[in-house]
Amino acid sequence: MAVQVPFVLKHCRTTLERTEKFISSEYFTDCNLRGRLYSSRCPLDFLSSFLTSKRISYTEAIKQEFKPANVGDSFGPTWWTCWFKVQLTIPKDWNGKEVHFLWESDGEGMVWRDGHPVQGLTTEGQKTSYILTECLKTEDPHSMILYVEVACNGLFGAGQGSMIAPPDANKKFYLQKAELAVFNGDVHELLMDFEILIDMAKLLGEGNQRSFQALYTANQMVNMCDVQDHTTFPAVHKMASAFFSQKNGYSQHIVHAMGHCHIDSAWLWPYEETIRKCARSWITVIRLMEKNPNFVFVCSQAQQFEWVKNSYPDLYSKIQDYVKKGQFVPVGGTWVEMDGNLPSGESMVRQFLQGQRFFKQEFGRQCLEFWLPDTFGYSAQLPQIMQGCGIKRFLTQKLSWNLVNSFPHHTFHWEGIDGSQVLAHFPPGDSYGMQGNVGEVLKTVKNHKEKGRVNHSAFLFGFGDGGGGPTQPMLDRLERMQDTDGLPKVQMSIPDAFFSAVEADQSLLCTWVGELFLELHNGTYTTQAQIKKGNRECERILHDIEAVSSMALSQNLSFHYPSSKLQHLWRLLLLNQFHDVLPGSCINLVVEGALRYYLEIHRDGAPLLKEAMTAVLGFCEQKSAASVTALNTLSWERTEVITGSHQSGQDSLVLVKVPSMGYTTVTESLVPPHPVTISKQLDGSVTMENGILRVTLDSTGRITSLYLIESKRESVTESCFGNQFAIFDDIPLYWDAWDVMDYHLETRKPVVHLLSPLAIASSDKLRGSLKFSLRISETSVIHQEVVLDAMCPYVRFNTEVIWNEAHKFLKVEFPVRVRNLNATYEIQFGHLQRPTHWNTSWDWARFEVWGHKWADLSEHGFGVAVLNNCKYGYSVHENVMRLSLLRAPKSPDATADIGHHQFIYAVMPHRDSFQEAGVIQYAYNLNFPLHAVPCEAKAKCWSAFSLLSPAIILETVKQAEDRADALVIRLYESHGSSVNTTLQTALILKEVIQCDLLEQPILDKTVPLTESGIELSFTPFQIISLLLILKI
Ligand SMILES: [Zn+2]
Repeated sequence: MAVQVPFVLKHCRTTLERTEKFISSEYFTDCNLRGRLYSSRCPLDFLSSFLTSKRISYTEAIKQEFKPANVGDSFGPTWWTCWFKVQLTIPKDWNGKEVHFLWESDGEGMVWRDGHPVQGLTTEGQKTSYILTECLKTEDPHSMILYVEVACNGLFGAGQGSMIAPPDANKKFYLQKAELAVFNGDVHELLMDFEILIDMAKLLGEGNQRSFQALYTANQMVNMCDVQDHTTFPAVHKMASAFFSQKNGYSQHIVHAMGHCHIDSAWLWPYEETIRKCARSWITVIRLMEKNPNFVFVCSQAQQFEWVKNSYPDLYSKIQDYVKKGQFVPVGGTWVEMDGNLPSGESMVRQFLQGQRFFKQEFGRQCLEFWLPDTFGYSAQLPQIMQGCGIKRFLTQKLSWNLVNSFPHHTFHWEGIDGSQVLAHFPPGDSYGMQGNVGEVLKTVKNHKEKGRVNHSAFLFGFGDGGGGPTQPMLDRLERMQDTDGLPKVQMSIPDAFFSAVEADQSLLCTWVGELFLELHNGTYTTQAQIKKGNRECERILHDIEAVSSMALSQNLSFHYPSSKLQHLWRLLLLNQFHDVLPGSCINLVVEGALRYYLEIHRDGAPLLKEAMTAVLGFCEQKSAASVTALNTLSWERTEVITGSHQSGQDSLVLVKVPSMGYTTVTESLVPPHPVTISKQLDGSVTMENGILRVTLDSTGRITSLYLIESKRESVTESCFGNQFAIFDDIPLYWDAWDVMDYHLETRKPVVHLLSPLAIASSDKLRGSLKFSLRISETSVIHQEVVLDAMCPYVRFNTEVIWNEAHKFLKVEFPVRVRNLNATYEIQFGHLQRPTHWNTSWDWARFEVWGHKWADLSEHGFGVAVLNNCKYGYSVHENVMRLSLLRAPKSPDATADIGHHQFIYAVMPHRDSFQEAGVIQYAYNLNFPLHAVPCEAKAKCWSAFSLLSPAIILETVKQAEDRADALVIRLYESHGSSVNTTLQTALILKEVIQCDLLEQPILDKTVPLTESGIELSFTPFQIISLLLILKI
């Protein structure tokens, strides 16, 4: 029988809206298709609940007393957990049907069945059902008990009024729905068909005939579909399938879809909640994999795997099975998705070392790609570090957030400061949380900046940031877009397949050299100063424990090197480097947790260092001893003033010369060639001099003159002041803790209100110090001690700030008599330059930048460096060098940075280049004070390692991960030069093997070990690691 084709008027708007209303979840659900998705609903037998302030285990929870509960009830407050006991019976006449348990509530839920987590539930993440059975059989149990564990926080925490506002501690959570229902799979399939067709009709544009084909196909399907008669559905679905099977041409762009679920390891919720977020998100992924054998899910952060391994062993073993099948794909290679700017070079290495070793141990393979979609900028040293950790590929998308310039590539070669290259890709859809719809795949192609060069791009789908992950509708939509004319080809893919496809066709790719600077979130170099300080201090503590323990091991192989304790402490430090913790963009609960971890590293690290020092020196500290042993964990000889003890029991200053990576014992202080002199003038100003520098401060603590005696050069710009504090209004557009905007520079006010004028605090031939105090406001003050030591080429500022401000930014300024178009900043294992002018938008977008221990502004033959012991934010514009000290954002932590701060910075004028002047070494010295151990004279002078070239820094000495009788040492070229040098060592070595950053031997590299030491060749900024096999 011929089907009569209905007459269709050429009114596109009504035709389109008709199809939209047909699947609307808002309108006409009484008679449209969407309203038929579920039928035959049935209430639960009984619902009861139990509230707890703690995150307890299932076993503990089910023992508690549950009280009757109802839909509509509220529970809470924030961060508590409500356990619901669900008693249900499926009606017998539902046999043969797919039955869902429907649950809608605030908060994040986990369904437990027979003691196992089985389904994550979140209304925000569009997961509101648990499939009880896909086809109910007569013999199946119809009655059962489920538990639903509901965390009293949303996917994005519990912000009061806006997402990033501090959490509302008293939030109430509501249960909106708890029932059983029959799920109509055929209706779901048709809804998916319609969604694709309607989006194609809307988004392909009037110039595209495929748009109209989609529209009239959808319209015809509405005509054919009788929502009350399921027998009409197959023909409707067939019509859609016929449309989707009209294929693309060969040249079409290929979108590599990968399921993903970005879970911030802590952000608007604490670490403890993240463990449950992982479980909720990943069990949902497993459920989807059971139903969709082609579904691929990529998952980063070894720490999160470890959490799930420890807390949810059943789920973890399922994950391991799907990793073996190639569907659950670990990526990234790092312990956490860390901040890309602030961790030290060694911390970056340890992120990979801990991560890759974990992935290898747990899943039998290392990751092939570095995965950091959400971090606030990427160090120019990362390509070399990646390469050294077995990784040649990199994925992110965060630079799409740039406020000023559009980054010119999506797929490119990224080259680091040493010349190492990796293949980098930014998914052109500018997101890692795609929903899998037509608009996003079209945007992916349209945005793609490598058109004609590369025909592949990545597409990460699934709810993210707070977890959630992919949903079944996302998979169903993507499946319909596999190969249909008018859309790019969409295939489920794994990162290896995607990058391999790009590598096969990379001849036209461009190269980007240097850092990937995010032109946003520049406040994160400064926010939460205590976290920054904790990071820098703990990097030092772990460095020193490893260095001294290695010395002890090299002297005596029976020394117990504390490897497992060190691994634990390193992992705490690495966790805190997560990209919302170290940057300071987290809630107060997270800050408290992070500071506890730093405290643990301090507390547990101290005895480890003491044990190692005792083993190396052969004695421990003796109070009131006549001598002092000074121990140096850096790889150059240092002459410094330290505090020794005196037989009288009083501290005294001692000038000591300590060999590199070694120690010496002194009973008498060295006599400096020039003692420190202090003279006070009538106007209240004071001059200190040590033969290298002559510094004059006015009565308000500002430097009026900083004179480099040997060069006869004044450092401070005429009529200007060094050590000038300035305060700025700091009100960003939205991202409070994250952003400082360019316009803050227009609000500069110098801090000039004097509380107590400059006074001489101490005057010794080895050390002069001055003190003064300034008032910042009614509630904030600065106390500063200005110190000049004998033989020291910098002036040190020991600074204390009582800070009670709102939306203010404190900086200290040094206007210097130096002209250069570029300033230099220390980064991981090297340095880079950034402009001091604002010529182009790329220049002025970097009005606030990051650096590590020092920044330098030099012209030929002379320069000035600013050093610090725990700061990361800088800005050098024209001739003014600024160090960023404190901010006061109010979201997401209303108390961020309020309170007491102590930090040190220093200013160092120098002749020649900063390399020749030793700026790099002096900045290390400021950060790694000599260890002084009062003792009776026993220890002789000993040096474990020394280097002939000052360009080479021996950064790390540690025990090898896999060989108890071997050390790993890591060196880098710090000047940006090619160098041949010799590493001299007192250690008795059997063999020296060059290895990569994961400590795996590099087979084709031999390292000559001669009588004079280990011969090494470096290219600019090259990192070299060596395995030193100790002779037993
Ligand atoms: Zn993130």
